[in-house]
Amino acid sequence: MIDYHLHTSRCCHATGTPEEYLAEAELKNIREIGFADHFPLGLLGYSPRNQVTMNPAELEDYIREIDALRRSSGRVDIKLGIEVDYLPGTEDKLSGLLEQYSFDYVIGSIHFMDDWDFTHPVYADTYRERDLDRLYNTYFELVWDMCRSGLFDIIGHIDVIKKFGYRPSYNLEPLWAETARVLGETGTCVELNTAGRDAPVGEFYPDGSLLEKCFAERVSVTMGSDAHGPQQVGRYFEEAVDILKKTGYRELAVFEKRIKSAVSL
Ligand SMILES: [Zn+2]
Ligand SMILES: [Zn+2]
Repeated sequence: MIDYHLHTSRCCHATGTPEEYLAEAELKNIREIGFADHFPLGLLGYSPRNQVTMNPAELEDYIREIDALRRSSGRVDIKLGIEVDYLPGTEDKLSGLLEQYSFDYVIGSIHFMDDWDFTHPVYADTYRERDLDRLYNTYFELVWDMCRSGLFDIIGHIDVIKKFGYRPSYNLEPLWAETARVLGETGTCVELNTAGRDAPVGEFYPDGSLLEKCFAERVSVTMGSDAHGPQQVGRYFEEAVDILKKTGYRELAVFEKRIKSAVSL
């Protein structure tokens, strides 16, 4: 099993040191892990009301710390990833920044729409005031733009807009079809993210039907627990592997210095 979505206490809303995440991975017989902590939004010129990323000054320390852990680690392979918010209009800036660091992979995620941190429990009530039909459309248009930017290897928690259980009135199949098509066309991986099981929605990301469409479009897949505490490493992974196999997947994507290859599931 491979867990490519681990945070650390640097992002201000997770707990634990990289060593503690690694120890948990060893305990759970996970053969490869990747840290993907939240890229400093300050570097993209954005400061949200709640601090949910590391500070700009911490990025180099984060990289050094994971690199050091990688050198000292035994049987678990360790990758250096990063989870970056897609903020339209910052593509050029982000592209320049990403070139400066040797990440193994970059997860692109959307947590903000018009200054609303819609994945944050503190702002979950805002869904009640929103037109959910329009909201879902807007969210997925952002996902497509994010894929087409070519800046990201993997899309994180791709249908996280369902996190608090709010759904649109229409059938989502056409949006899923287009999403899978864009992922395939742009060669972007999707992540089976198990964190949603512990959110109010109680489901993995993505939805099973979207995952099936991704498989049909030959979209590669990674797995991520989105652990914000060491004990969450590899959460629900046996069930996640079952789902992937039932969907038809036989391989997981892995990355080294942003080059993709595959290992059997
Ligand atoms: Zn987080
Ligand atoms: Zn995220």
